[in-house]
Amino acid sequence: MDCDKCGADAVLHAAYSGLHLCEDHLCQSVEKRVRRRVREDNLLPDDATAGDPETWVVGLSGGKDSVVLTQILAETFGRDPRVELVALSVHEGIDGYRDESLAACRELTADLGVAHEVVSYDEEFDVRMDEVVEEDPHDMSACAYCGVFRRDVLSRYAADLGADKLLTGHNLDDEAETALMNFLEGDIRKLSQQFDASLGPFEGADAERTREGGEEFVPRAKPLRDVPEREVALYARVRDLPAHITECPHAEEAYRGEIQQLLYDLEERHPGTRHSIMAGYEELAALAAGEYDASDGDGDLGECAECGSPTAREVCRKCGLLDALT
Ligand code: SF4
Repeated sequence: MDCDKCGADAVLHAAYSGLHLCEDHLCQSVEKRVRRRVREDNLLPDDATAGDPETWVVGLSGGKDSVVLTQILAETFGRDPRVELVALSVHEGIDGYRDESLAACRELTADLGVAHEVVSYDEEFDVRMDEVVEEDPHDMSACAYCGVFRRDVLSRYAADLGADKLLTGHNLDDEAETALMNFLEGDIRKLSQQFDASLGPFEGADAERTREGGEEFVPRAKPLRDVPEREVALYARVRDLPAHITECPHAEEAYRGEIQQLLYDLEERHPGTRHSIMAGYEELAALAAGEYDASDGDGDLGECAECGSPTAREVCRKCGLLDALT
């Protein structure tokens, strides 16, 4: 098939829009959606001056999503006096996996001239995921431990690096899967707590709300959340970006796998399903955030007795898991 924009060979047929796109127009389309999301979510500051730019910390794993996000942000905002980019990678302690993806991160950030920081579970918590999987005191999946540790180090290091925003490379498929999982769990309060620019635009009150519990709550954003996974992968391939595509040996999220398959089947039969799920979810999250904010806001968050992080429990989830491991 030919590209609907220029007649060159098409590399993509996007069933949800009906468009056929060539390599160049696919790349332009992905970049345009990221720029539009940054604009619509009000991520750019109005008032930062050249001497005092905002710091955007970008979570960079070396996988295709975070590599594509870092590439587009660096090309778009690398010379923008309002923004300074810092890439942050996490080493989970997984032999034969993370070392290779960190090499991809170093290559990319060196090419782009973006500052790059690496933090490890070993240094932070004295644990490595390879050992956590062996010990497994709570009989949980590796990802259940790993996700808690990653959220903690990303938030704390983003705060330490003076981040105004923490940007992650979640794509449309990731977001639609998470939305469906949260909805099926039926926990609307949890959904409301996740509402910031990662689901809807930064507006004064929303940005401040995420900070009320303490400096650790660096507001999050997901500028790639309008772009389907397949298009992110194609973009990385067309532009020959140094993305690491090997799957983690501990990857095992059975429920997410079922949701993934369900969404894949729905999208095949009803193109546009992922977009409509996200449109409804964002509206619901905004309503829920307003409702719970009005009733109790973040008022029930205290400090973890062990590490001082904001938590609704006496000991936060991360400290609870670490206590069980040692
Ligand atoms: Fe951690 Fe799971 Fe990701 Fe592996 S797949 S790095 S265990 S979250």
